[in-house]
Amino acid sequence: MSQETNDCIFCKILAGEIPSAKVYEDENVFAFLDISQVTKGHTLVIPKAHHKNIYETPAPVAEKLFSSVPKVANAIKEAYSPAGLNVLNNNEEAAGQSVFHLHIHLIPRYGKGDGFG
Ligand code: 5GP
Ligand code: ZN
Repeated sequence: MSQETNDCIFCKILAGEIPSAKVYEDENVFAFLDISQVTKGHTLVIPKAHHKNIYETPAPVAEKLFSSVPKVANAIKEAYSPAGLNVLNNNEEAAGQSVFHLHIHLIPRYGKGDGFG
């Protein structure tokens, strides 16, 4: 593990050093439930390669990450039957990024009063 990934919570999840609830996995990406779900089924999708955020991610890695989103979205739809779904990506602290390993939030929506937005 490189120095950069040593202190990364999401790299530790990928390595199985921190437990997580898996939603989807393929050779390039891993999806798991957010530890503090803003709504039921709130999921994070991450590339298996460590990149800080969208600015520092090579296009082929970003392509594989973003192209996995429909599959993860459908897995969430199947499991939770939400009324809708928000897809979000925060880059840098000013935009709300708190874990510096690129990730996409998939936030199932259940209508007014579901606790998000
Ligand atoms: P950000 O604020 O960087 O866009 O999102 C980071 C997300 O990672 C937050 O929603 C936070 O709840 C989630 N998170 C932080 N630590 C852990 C962890 O150890 N396990 C899981 N499953 N999620 C985490
Ligand atoms: Zn990482």
